[in-house]
Amino acid sequence: MKAHIKTIGLYNGKAANILKTCALLLERYDGEVPRDRAALEALPGVGRKTANVILNTAFGEPTIAVDTHIFRVANRTGLAPGKTVRAVEEGLLAATPEEFRHDAHHWLILHGRYVCTARKPRCWACPIRDLCAYPDKSEVN
Ligand code: SF4
Repeated sequence: MKAHIKTIGLYNGKAANILKTCALLLERYDGEVPRDRAALEALPGVGRKTANVILNTAFGEPTIAVDTHIFRVANRTGLAPGKTVRAVEEGLLAATPEEFRHDAHHWLILHGRYVCTARKPRCWACPIRDLCAYPDKSEVN
């Protein structure tokens, strides 16, 4: 297992959690991934964010997972400001029309990873610059 995921951070712990999760899925759910938030969050290494990703991408539920990129983008832009991940998640759910909720977290992550980056946001190249509330927008350097 480790060899397959060794390019990602904390791969030792993640590999161990994946193996434990596989055993539990066989033991409790006949090898199926449950479509249930509480059941998902009871699996090793699965918190609210991961449960949201699974519910959204595997089961098509209108959830929005909030990672560090989405948390930053939501606060900077003013789209869904909040001090906690949960507050941002709730703000994004309220602000995102249902038809876009299936892909919203992918778009927000990509925007945060490649445009609205943590240290030097690329505001000069940002397609939503005119809509963004961030007061310290960067210019081309
Ligand atoms: S204008 Fe700048 S701060 Fe606002 S979303 Fe774009 S990159 Fe981020």
